[in-house]
Amino acid sequence: MRGADSRRLHTKYSKSQPPPQGASAAARAAGLDARRFSEYLNSNMAIRDILIAPDPRLKTVSDPVDTVDDDLRALMDDMLETMYAAPGIGLAAIQVGVPVRVIVMDLAREGDAPEPRFFVNPEILDQSDTLTSYAEGCLSVPEFYEDVERPDTVRIRYLDYHGKPCEEEARDLFAVCIQHEMDHLEGILFVDHLSRLKRASILKKLQKSRRLATAG
Ligand SMILES: [Zn+2]
Repeated sequence: MRGADSRRLHTKYSKSQPPPQGASAAARAAGLDARRFSEYLNSNMAIRDILIAPDPRLKTVSDPVDTVDDDLRALMDDMLETMYAAPGIGLAAIQVGVPVRVIVMDLAREGDAPEPRFFVNPEILDQSDTLTSYAEGCLSVPEFYEDVERPDTVRIRYLDYHGKPCEEEARDLFAVCIQHEMDHLEGILFVDHLSRLKRASILKKLQKSRRLATAG
C-alpha cells in the first residue's frame, strides 16, 4: 500500500552509513540486536519488480505458507527492500509475483526509526461493525488514490518473521493497511472496492500508460 499523506518512508540505508538513530528499537521489533540489524540491512537484499494492474497475476489467490524458513525470510527481506524503495508502507508477495500469503509493512513516520513488520498466513479473527474511510493508494495501481471504506478495527492472527504465532488488534492506519494487503492475498485490489465505472477508468489509464512506456 502507498499512503496518501506524507507518510513517506526513509529510503534504504546505504552500506557506508551506520544504522539510523533508534534503529535498536526497530531491531528489537524485528527480533534482532543492533549489530545484527545493521548486518541485516546490509545483507543481500534485492529490489524486485512490482506488478502493475491490470496484470492478471494480481488476481491470483495466494497459497498458505507451510514453514517459515530462511528461504521465506529471504523473500520477506527482498519484499521489505522493494517496499522501502518504492516507497510504500505495505506490500504483499503476489505484488512481486510470488503467490504466497506473506505481507511486509512499515508504518513508521518519515524521520522516525523504521518499524519493519512481517505477516505470514494472516487471518482476520474479528472485525468492528464501525467502518472508516481512508484514501488508499497501491504500489500496483500507481498514481491513483481513492477512498475505501473498511472496518476500523480488526483482530488478526499471523506468524511473524520467525514463525511465531501472534495475535493482535489493528486500528487506524494499521487496520487499513493490513486489510488492504490481505485483499491482495485473495487477488483483490483496492480499486475492486470502487464503482465499476471508476475501476474501469483507472485500469484503462494504467493500461494506456503501460503501452506508452513500452512503446517509448
Ligand atoms: Zn496494494
